Amino acid sequence: MPETLAARTARVFFALWPDAQVRAGLMRQGLQMHSTLGGKLTHADSVHLTLVFLGEVGPEQLPRLQTRASSVRFAPFVLCIDRAGCWRHNSIGWVAPQQTPAQLQHLVDALESALGEEGFEFDHRAYAAHITLLRKARCTPIETKVAAIEWPVREFVLMRSELHSQGSRYSTIGRWAAHEEDNA
Ligand code: NAP
Repeated sequence: MPETLAARTARVFFALWPDAQVRAGLMRQGLQMHSTLGGKLTHADSVHLTLVFLGEVGPEQLPRLQTRASSVRFAPFVLCIDRAGCWRHNSIGWVAPQQTPAQLQHLVDALESALGEEGFEFDHRAYAAHITLLRKARCTPIETKVAAIEWPVREFVLMRSELHSQGSRYSTIGRWAAHEEDNA
């Protein structure tokens, strides 16, 4: 892509980003999966759970995106990551919650609704919460319960994704905290 065009748009997505402790648990799980499924292990700094993927967005749209995101309210919650599997269609090895908690679905719905009202376009397929730990894995049809990783969710982020020769690089371009009082 010509530099001028790349500078004009950003590939963006909303996500949950783990703290150091949760990241360490996820990476331990990733290493274990890597020993049987092979593939490319996600870099520790890049481990995340996508909420809404928007794709390419023009620079003039970023402030609107950030303003709408700040209108989204959610209460803090704990996400329990206790299932692992591998998708054959895209060779992704992942971990996920056995059941998507209502608070996570609410956050995704609230974001999609706010972004839709603002005219942003995204995939409307049913939300499949997952954390990609392996790419190009040798997927066998496994799907298994794993030791639970408790992830306290207190914020969501807006990330920019850029493709470099060594793979994707992410940078944070927005951060919004949960509303403690919404749990009352
Ligand atoms: P990415 O494609 O920018 O994806 C960032 C996050 O958004 C990932 O969690 C990804 O989920 C999710 N996502 C991507 N497309 C989606 C869609 N259509 N609907 C819902 N969620 C979506 O960066 P990446 O995950 O590091 O790269 C994924 C693959 O795309 C790699 O093979 C990479 O080489 C290729 N790619 C990346 C870029 C880039 O600029 N980063 C550009 C072109 C191609 P999953 O983890 O499930 O994929």
